Amino acid sequence: MPYTSCRWLEHGISFNSDHIEMCCLRCHKGGGRIILSENLDVHNFDWDKILEDRKKFIDDAKQGKLPKECEECFELNKKNWGKGGYIDTIHFDHWTKCNSNCVYCFTHSDKKEFNSKEHYNVLPLIEDLFEKKLFKPTGEITFAGGEPTLLEEFDDLVNLFLENGARLKIHTSGLQYSETIAKGIEKGQITVVLSADSGTKEMYSKVKGVEGFDIFWENAKKYALSQPKKNKNLVATKYILIPDMNTNKSEIRKWLKLNKKAGIKCIASDVEDNWCADLRENNKPFPKKLRGLAKFIVNSADDLGFKFLFYNNFWYLYYDTQQKRDLFCE
Ligand code: SF4
Ligand code: SF4
Repeated sequence: MPYTSCRWLEHGISFNSDHIEMCCLRCHKGGGRIILSENLDVHNFDWDKILEDRKKFIDDAKQGKLPKECEECFELNKKNWGKGGYIDTIHFDHWTKCNSNCVYCFTHSDKKEFNSKEHYNVLPLIEDLFEKKLFKPTGEITFAGGEPTLLEEFDDLVNLFLENGARLKIHTSGLQYSETIAKGIEKGQITVVLSADSGTKEMYSKVKGVEGFDIFWENAKKYALSQPKKNKNLVATKYILIPDMNTNKSEIRKWLKLNKKAGIKCIASDVEDNWCADLRENNKPFPKKLRGLAKFIVNSADDLGFKFLFYNNFWYLYYDTQQKRDLFCE
């Protein structure tokens, strides 16, 4: 029987640095943050309990009742969700180490403190997931907050997912080249998204707080060369729009050119999250100029033959609320 739910409610889990949530989405009216556990206790983690606890959410969804945290989320979809009892969508936000220092990142205020935190170690519980045969390779594994390639267990973790047939999307600063990522791209199982946010060296330094423009594009080019013939959309660079900083067409045109030069066929964009959160809190719409810029980016991507990935806030910027409701929230 079809009902409105989402892939995270049915089969997902999001590991933050010290707690566990249902998903990692924040940019919609409900704001997300359904807490599954206040602590991330790797050694006493119980997958059966995680699956048992979500039954209540799924039963409610079948009755048309969704958590308030899900209000107007674009992940909601009405369809036949099939039989549950497995995990296929996992997100990691470790927030422990990063070799960039983006002005918009919540670690920016105390970079030293964040970068000196212990690496967390989720490998044992992921091994347990596979041993218990509770994983299906039908969803996506994502790495985001913090720089995943600097995690001590990164190679082991990614290799484990690759061996078990998973598809991964890895967000990286792009400053540290990873052979493991390149191997996953070659196999067609990894999509890597490198954080560019600029089209010039000057803007790169201003947004990222580090000097890494040249190495970033060298690495982007190397990853692009790893792509198999049958799929050239596995390497993307992302541009986060930061109002009054990098939101001008000239900078964006230069970013598009750099992607062409690096052999990249896929690009992504988002809007700075804190700025969007302020708008939401004050119940204000996106400014018309920014909506125009979003259309310019999407149209330019189309004209130049790029595949375009809509990230969360950008999605809300580009599509109006009514259209969103009609599409996803019947
Ligand atoms: S509907 Fe959105 S907020 Fe709710 S669990 Fe799914 S992804 Fe998270
Ligand atoms: S690359 Fe990601 S984790 Fe690192 S500073 Fe930028 S936003 Fe934060």
